[in-house]
Amino acid sequence: MSSCIIIGAGMAGLTAAQQLAGRGWRVTVLDKGRGVGGRLATRRLTNGRADHGAQVIRAESAEFRAWLTSADTEAALAEWPVDPAGTGWIGRDGMNRVAKQLADGLTIETEQTVTSVHMEPDGWRVETKTGQSFQADALLCIIPAPQALTLFGDASNLLRSTDRDALQQIQYEPCLSVLVTLNQSGSIPAPGGLWLDRPDIAWLADNQQKGISPDQPTATILASTAFSQTHLDGDLNAAGQQLLAQLTDYLPAEAVADVQVHRWRYSQVTQAYPEPFHRAATTVPLLFGGDGFGGAAPFDPHLNVERAFLSGRRMADALLA
Ligand SMILES: Cc1cc2nc3c(=O)[nH]c(=O)nc-3n(C[C@H](O)[C@H](O)[C@H](O)COP(=O)(O)OP(=O)(O)OC[C@H]3O[C@@H](n4cnc5c(N)ncnc54)[C@H](O)[C@@H]3O)c2cc1C
Repeated sequence: MSSCIIIGAGMAGLTAAQQLAGRGWRVTVLDKGRGVGGRLATRRLTNGRADHGAQVIRAESAEFRAWLTSADTEAALAEWPVDPAGTGWIGRDGMNRVAKQLADGLTIETEQTVTSVHMEPDGWRVETKTGQSFQADALLCIIPAPQALTLFGDASNLLRSTDRDALQQIQYEPCLSVLVTLNQSGSIPAPGGLWLDRPDIAWLADNQQKGISPDQPTATILASTAFSQTHLDGDLNAAGQQLLAQLTDYLPAEAVADVQVHRWRYSQVTQAYPEPFHRAATTVPLLFGGDGFGGAAPFDPHLNVERAFLSGRRMADALLA
């Protein structure tokens, strides 16, 4: 039986894992997070929830649309008519639900930060922060490219300059995500999602109207790229309050019960590698993929999840071939 280690249990890693496991491969997915999903992220807030990563999923390709509307995903996905440009999909109780559905039946080791990668004559051995070691015939590294470069930094003998050049092409922008618990509904108009073209704020969502937080009103604010870059390593709470103060027309101060701020250093892709994955020039299979692969700018920010999905599928196809 062929075996594979996948580093990263985000949309791309889970998609590749499903495909390989479905064809009889022994697949182990490792993720540093406490749960699966990566940027398909939903946080619990008192009696509610808020999506603090991906907000709405769109599909351009027939392949992704077919998956979004298949019987397999029906329990996890719902349509959200927020997008004038076409149908948008969301996780039924938050985006993380989509990842949990994909993870069903897979062997996933969470809280396992991969710290080193070693090539052996017939496969790969990776070591994690907990001191554990995992071995397999093939390795898929499906984490943001800057993190992949750091991970492989010490193993400089593994990557050739062409491999490094591929990863270095990929650029991300940061994003501060502000999660607001409310004690009364705000006044965000239906259906609950607003693209705000303000200097400091890109997006505002009402998670109760979105349908993922029925028992408690909560809101998600995504800061603009410029604001996020300025405040990324500063006082996050102060940054969150600064954004909230600009939104009293939608979220009056007396309605706000709690504010949390999440920092995404690698949020959305601004420059991708054109192919859906990159195969390193190693003697045993090592592939890099994820949302940074398979596209040309300008990027529609709501097609990132689709790009991650297609990258995961094409990586699995390549190994199966
Ligand atoms: C605020 C925000 C808003 C967004 N909005 C949208 C949107 O509306 N629509 C859209 O389509 N896309 C959106 N995106 C982008 C979308 O979420 C991503 O493109 C997609 O989820 C990426 O999936 P991925 O599998 O490539 O990577 P990730 O989800 O980042 O998965 C990588 C995984 O690797 C793990 N990892 C990293 N390093 C290690 C290590 N050393 N060892 C073990 N595990 C490791 C991480 O924990 C993570 O779980 C948004 C993203 C953010 C942050």
